[in-house]
Amino acid sequence: MDDDLSRPETVKEQLRSMGHRANKDLGQNFLIDPNTVARIVEVAEVEGRNVVEIGAGTGALTRPLADIARSVVAYEVDASLEAALADTLAGTDNVEVRIDDATTVDLQASLVNGTWAMVANLPYNVGTPILLTALQEAPRIDRFVVLVQREVGDRLLAAPGSRTYGVPSVIAGLHATGHLAFTVSPTVFEPQPNVDSAVVVLDRMEPSPHAAAAVRIAKTAFNQRRKMIRSSLRDLAETAEWIEAAGVDPTTRAEQVSPVQYVDLAASLEAG
Ligand code: SAM
Repeated sequence: MDDDLSRPETVKEQLRSMGHRANKDLGQNFLIDPNTVARIVEVAEVEGRNVVEIGAGTGALTRPLADIARSVVAYEVDASLEAALADTLAGTDNVEVRIDDATTVDLQASLVNGTWAMVANLPYNVGTPILLTALQEAPRIDRFVVLVQREVGDRLLAAPGSRTYGVPSVIAGLHATGHLAFTVSPTVFEPQPNVDSAVVVLDRMEPSPHAAAAVRIAKTAFNQRRKMIRSSLRDLAETAEWIEAAGVDPTTRAEQVSPVQYVDLAASLEAG
């Protein structure tokens, strides 16, 4: 397959010729802009690396990734795209397409041979849980370069106290350092989404041994985000002393507690 496939009319034509109607429930917004594809691949820095892609679609991103990566494992849940994907990937010998639901896959167990980079135009409906699960449970993936809705990107990268700070920000902050690489307009997709998107880069860091407990505490606190944590975390211990012992103000609220402070809380709770 030649480079023509990344031409907007060619991707559209490919979908049209297969009679494929984008499935909204599967978050199908196909990339039709070669410049955006090229920028994602450039930011991903995957020369010679193993790459896992979630939601390969017709392969608009898979193909250029395969051209520079050592290997690519590409998940796609929609079996009706398999032929188009095979067509796009014709001539490559380093791509394994897995027609499977990535929400049910244990990525840590399914990816072998060293470390991996996740590079994906994520399906908006399941993209966040897939990403957050991989961050927590698949340390083999040490870099994430993901195209997500702008709002999702903001949530992942939000600082404590900001409007968008929440459990995803805590999970991302505990497992990675991140930045927004660039924003993406709806016009680069077919069909066009209603919102802006963004490419977010997360580079894994060694998590605290208390990270899992910290996430559990954050989830509990954010369940009642308007309450002071001495109240929202009341069920975790008899008194609020453990919160003070962690050096955290018990009158603060979930959205003001930093990822590091959630770790301090987890350590204090465990210390009893
Ligand atoms: N990578 C292609 C591109 O950029 O043109 C398609 C991206 S599209 C935003 C998301 C893709 O994820 C769709 O092809 C959709 O079928 C697929 N998808 C949705 N849910 C999935 C799941 N649970 N597991 C694997 N793939 C999924």
